[in-house]
Amino acid sequence: MTTLIFAANWKMHLGPTGAGGYLAEFLGLYRPRPDREVWLFPSAVALDVVASRVQGRDDIRVGAQNVFWEPKGAYTGELSVPMAKDAGADAVLVGHSERRHVFGETDSETEKKVLAVLEAGLTPMLCVGEKLEERESGETMAVVTRQLAALDSLDAASLAKVPIAYEPVWAIGTGRTATPADAAEVHAGIRSWLVDRGVNAASVRVLYGGSVKMANVRDLVSEPEVDGVLVGGASLDAAGWADIVGIE
Ligand code: PEP
Repeated sequence: MTTLIFAANWKMHLGPTGAGGYLAEFLGLYRPRPDREVWLFPSAVALDVVASRVQGRDDIRVGAQNVFWEPKGAYTGELSVPMAKDAGADAVLVGHSERRHVFGETDSETEKKVLAVLEAGLTPMLCVGEKLEERESGETMAVVTRQLAALDSLDAASLAKVPIAYEPVWAIGTGRTATPADAAEVHAGIRSWLVDRGVNAASVRVLYGGSVKMANVRDLVSEPEVDGVLVGGASLDAAGWADIVGIE
């Protein structure tokens, strides 16, 4: 059975105290289901707290929002993959649009991060997505394909382990959501890119992200091309997040 991923990106919210309170509330409300996984991406300083509260559970995974590709050294302010792993992360968001467009992360830096995460035995979740002007000029698939090149050096077995989150930049934090049909079209393009590389595309989870909330999540995950959602703002309220991951 392919399980749906409900991933929460807390962005720059919830330090250790806030994350601990959130977890206490969420775990009191959340009812695990065999067809769903919850992935939590807290701030780096809250990784330890979150990972220790969900230790030993196979329905909840914990990941870092970003890492640097070098394992250690004079890189003030950065988080290495071994450090994230030590704090309890087993996944990492890579290439989130805010990393790309606020912090200027390039495609080649994204690729180095993907490789460093896999090398350390963690799971990268690669985020891809076009800006509004790129969509309007018909470049969506060209942009997404250019961003997928971060996976170019991986063999089919490694590729199959990398969930991909399609997050159109114009839909992130804006309240504007792609329709399930918009998402399906790009997801199908991503799967065809995978098939061209010898991957059984049905085995790769392709998520949608961008202003997902209670009001639209059911329609999105009902679309067969959508294997889960990556949620920012609407994941910050523990009770609301428990409702989203529990939708029937
Ligand atoms: C995100 O941060 O990945 C995201 C999709 O944010 P939001 O749900 O707030 O649009």
